[in-house]
Amino acid sequence: MPQNTLIVSNWKMNLNLISTKKLISKLKSLKTSKNIKNIVCPQYLLIPYVRDLIKSSQIILGAQDCHFEEKGSFTGDSSILLIKEYSCKYVIIGHSERREYHKEKNLDVKKKIKIAVKNNIIPIVCVGESFLMRQNKSYLKFIYKQLDECIPKKMGKLIIAYEPIWAIGTGLIPTIDDITEVKESCKKFLKTNKKIDDIKFLYGGSVNSQNFFEIRNKCKVDGALIGGASLLEQEITNILKGDF
Ligand code: PEP
Repeated sequence: MPQNTLIVSNWKMNLNLISTKKLISKLKSLKTSKNIKNIVCPQYLLIPYVRDLIKSSQIILGAQDCHFEEKGSFTGDSSILLIKEYSCKYVIIGHSERREYHKEKNLDVKKKIKIAVKNNIIPIVCVGESFLMRQNKSYLKFIYKQLDECIPKKMGKLIIAYEPIWAIGTGLIPTIDDITEVKESCKKFLKTNKKIDDIKFLYGGSVNSQNFFEIRNKCKVDGALIGGASLLEQEITNILKGDF
């Protein structure tokens, strides 16, 4: 049986009410393969709106982050309880932009994963190295440390998104061999050290309709986490309408 491919759109802090409606209307009009999970992750204020727009469609809702507590005095943060109430099924955790601009540490990521799992929301956990680490070949050591410190033991479903920081929004992407190496290494590490078998592995970083299918077919990844190209109607259409 063909495996599901996850296409996760990370809209980041983009789109307004009008452009969201237009993009969702385009996505709803696409006849996509049953093997695709089309997951959109809007910014928080758009979540209720998108929830209503995607009713009776195949589109699945996700969030871009959550706080590690369910409620409390955390000004400006968003609770997993509301994310759940608004029917989000996935949450991106540990994106490098959160790590950089909000100083999130691996321990924060771990707590967020735990609160998501407790609430039956599937975490999409981002890992990935800087350009310097790629150059000096310390990338695997760094990713192992991220996995070791972020991932609780014996989790059920887990999605890892390998997003090299240097590939995000730059147009640069690792080679097929590089992505495959990280995929195999992560799976082996998680199996051995965390006793987790059920892992989906996504690639993210400058994915577009030109490179997606080669990455998917040659690296045998379970899908992609897509930023910039997910905002472009034609690009995301070409990906979702591709040969699955
Ligand atoms: C991202 O930041 O999650 C991402 C993958 O961005 P882009 O596709 O724009 O590189």
